[in-house]
Amino acid sequence: MRASRVAANYGARVAVAESGRFGGTCVNVGCIPKKLFSYAAHFREDFHVARSFGWTVGEARFDWATLLANKDREIARLNGLYEGVLARAGAQILRGKATVVDAHTVELGGKRYGARHILVATGSWPQIPAIPGRELAITSNEAFHLASLPRRALVVGGGYIAVEFASIFQGLGVQTTLAYRGAQLLRGFDADLGQRLAEEMKKKGVAVRLQANPARLDPGIKVTYEDGAVEDTDLVMFATGRTPNTAGLGLEAAGVKLDAAGAVVVDAYSRSSVDSIHAIGDVTNRLNLTPVATAEGMALAKTLFRNEPTATDHDNVPTAVFSDPNVATVGLSEERARQKHGRVDIYKSAFRALKLTLGAHEERTFMKLVVDAATQRVLGAHMIGPDAGEIIQGIGIAVKLGATKAQFDATIGIHPTAAEEFVTMREKSP
Ligand SMILES: Cc1cc2nc3c(=O)[nH]c(=O)nc-3n(C[C@H](O)[C@H](O)[C@H](O)COP(=O)(O)OP(=O)(O)OC[C@H]3O[C@@H](n4cnc5c(N)ncnc54)[C@H](O)[C@@H]3O)c2cc1C
Repeated sequence: MRASRVAANYGARVAVAESGRFGGTCVNVGCIPKKLFSYAAHFREDFHVARSFGWTVGEARFDWATLLANKDREIARLNGLYEGVLARAGAQILRGKATVVDAHTVELGGKRYGARHILVATGSWPQIPAIPGRELAITSNEAFHLASLPRRALVVGGGYIAVEFASIFQGLGVQTTLAYRGAQLLRGFDADLGQRLAEEMKKKGVAVRLQANPARLDPGIKVTYEDGAVEDTDLVMFATGRTPNTAGLGLEAAGVKLDAAGAVVVDAYSRSSVDSIHAIGDVTNRLNLTPVATAEGMALAKTLFRNEPTATDHDNVPTAVFSDPNVATVGLSEERARQKHGRVDIYKSAFRALKLTLGAHEERTFMKLVVDAATQRVLGAHMIGPDAGEIIQGIGIAVKLGATKAQFDATIGIHPTAAEEFVTMREKSP
C-alpha cells in the first residue's frame, strides 16, 4: 500500500496485485481488530474499577456477536478507504493471486504484466505444528471470526500474539490457559517483562503453563502435553510462529534467493538477489511490524523513484504488546545491552497505578531503564502497565536521539502520571 502510493506520487506508473482484502494482515486479521478486541476485553476490569469510584454499573453482560459485527463494519470501511487511496494515487488495481515469472514479468489470472521493478510484499501466514489432531486447532486468522466464544480456551505460544489473545479470551470471560514450551514469555524482550507479565496474567485468572507443549489433540478437545499432562478445552489456538508467504510465488525460479525460513533475502535497500525484484515487510522476516513494513516501503519508493538511496533504520524501533496489562519497549533489553556494551546501570520501579488505589486491585505497573555505564546513554526503556504503548512512543524519541540518563532526569515529570516515573528513577538497581 505505502510503497505503491508513494511511488505513484513520485510519478511512477504502478499496478498492485491483491488476492485478499485491502489493508493486508494488519487491517484485516492483525493489529486493528486485535486492538479492538483488546479494548473489549479490558472493559471487564474497567467496570470493576468503576465501582471503587462509587459507580454502580449493574450487571455487565458481553455479547460477542455485537463486537464481531461492529468490528467487521469498521474493517470493511477501512478496506474501502485503502482501496480508494490507491486508486486516487493512480495505481492500477489487479485482483487475484500473482506469481513472478522472471525478473520483469508478473502473471495474474492468465495474463502477463511487464514491469521495470517488481516489489514482493506478500506478508506471512500463521503455522500450526505438525502434531496429531492439528486440524482441530485454529490460528489468529480464525480467532477473528469465531461463530461464538468458547467456554474454555488454550492458547499455545509465548510471543506477543499468544499473550495478547490469552488476555483477550480471559477478559471476555473465557477460562483461558496459556501454554508455552519455553521457560519465559516474550522471548527476545527484556527478561523482566516476560517474567512479570506472566505474574500479572496469572493474577487476572489466566492459567499460565510454562515449559508445556501440546503433543497431540483429540476431539473434544483433549490436549495431551509432551510431559503426559492432559487438559480438556473447547478451543485451541496456536500462535507459534508465522512463515513468509513465498511458497508457489515463483521467486526461486526467477533467481530470487530465499533463506531457510522461506523469507526473501534482501540488502539494506530491500533489494533481492535479482536487481529488479525488491521485497519489504513480513515476507523478508526482518522486524515484522506494520510501521516497519511501511517505513521500508517509503524508503524503497524514494530509492527507486526519487533517486535518493534510502535504507531503513531498524534500530531502536519501539513496539507494544497489547496484553492485559500492556507491555511496551524501545531499545535494548538488559541482557542484550550487557552483551553489547558490557557494564550497564539498571533502574527499576514497580508500583500500583493511582487509578487502581481505591479498590483491591493487584496489578503493578513496572518500568525499567537500561543505561550504558560508560556513556550514560539510555539504551533501553521497558514498561508494563496501562497505556505502555502510548508512553513508550514518546520515550522512543529520546532513546532514538541518544538521550542520557541525566537528560531524562533533567526533564520535569507530569504529575500525577505513571509516565513521570521514567524521569524520576534515581536509585540504581543492585
Ligand atoms: C494477530 C496479529 C496481530 C498483529 N498486531 C500487530 C500490532 O499490534 N502492531 C504491529 O505493528 N504489527 C502487528 N502485526 C504484524 C503486522 O500485521 C505485519 O507486520 C504487517 O501486516 C506486515 O505487512 P506486509 O505488508 O508485509 O504484509 P501483509 O499485511 O500480510 O500484506 C500482504 C498482502 O499480500 C497479499 N498477497 C499475498 N500473496 C499474494 C499474491 N500471491 N498475490 C497477490 N496478493 C498477495 C495478501 O492478501 C495481503 O493483503 C500483527 C500480526 C498479527 C497476525
